[in-house]
Amino acid sequence: MTTAPDGLPPLREVIARHGIAAKKGLGQNFLLDLNLTGRIARAAGDLSATDVLEVGPGPGGLTRALLAAGARRVVAVERDPRCREALAEIAARWPGRLEAVEGDALEVDAAALLGRPAAVVANLPYNVGTALLVGWLRAPFPPWWSRLTLMFQREVAERIVAAPGSGAYGRLSVLAQWRCEARILFDVPPQAFSPPPKVTSSVVSIAPLDAPRAQADLALLEEVTAAAFGQRRKMLRQALKGLGVAPETLLDAAGIEPTRRAETLPVEAFCALARALAQAR
Ligand code: SAM
Repeated sequence: MTTAPDGLPPLREVIARHGIAAKKGLGQNFLLDLNLTGRIARAAGDLSATDVLEVGPGPGGLTRALLAAGARRVVAVERDPRCREALAEIAARWPGRLEAVEGDALEVDAAALLGRPAAVVANLPYNVGTALLVGWLRAPFPPWWSRLTLMFQREVAERIVAAPGSGAYGRLSVLAQWRCEARILFDVPPQAFSPPPKVTSSVVSIAPLDAPRAQADLALLEEVTAAAFGQRRKMLRQALKGLGVAPETLLDAAGIEPTRRAETLPVEAFCALARALAQAR
């Protein structure tokens, strides 16, 4: 039997032995190339003094890379019980350093299972990736995580890092960039996965800033961005009508031309609108 550098069997063999044929409904596109999983683990930086949350370890390719790269401890939340034994084998190879939790990452209170400092590294299931990210971005700041290193579909990654004026700029960009620095580290082509997805993926790094780009209440910032981008082609004096306060009052207080459109406003301007909304209510 051939073995990988960590002494464990190659992933194809693990998948065959444990019957983990990829299921589309679970967003299962597995990475089988240990060079690539190693690259993602290294992109997360030095993890030797950090606990790592991994969502969706599947057969454990990235999990193995994180442990081999020296992560202090990995807590891996996986919904698919078919992965249980494969993960148990990895845990036995790295005693005391892998805790596999069976459950839905949207429900599990992962932060409570991690020591500090903590980071998140994951090849996210595409169907819940954005919801998970929004949950992490909504954490009270400074957040419990020191960095998120996440694989998304390229189109989602572009929305996270988009600048004002670009078609990809929207609610996710504002929420991500308000209190964090977000950048795309590298792309991963479809053929790197088994089975290959239809689109290119990208690894994104999101790190908290020392201070938010501007003061705002999170709930109001979300309300303002939802209204503004809900009608992104309309001028703000029209798009902001649903907020229960005259849009002109808000725009005037925030010093924003009523004829502008949401996609032209920098994050600081959305914060000014959120503060104006707080004042006006
Ligand atoms: N980390 C593995 C890799 O890189 O090869 C698998 C990544 S695959 C894109 C996504 C994984 O997330 C799958 O193993 C899937 O079963 C798991 N998953 C899907 N939805 C989940 C959820 N709500 N909570 C936890 N895991 C989930």
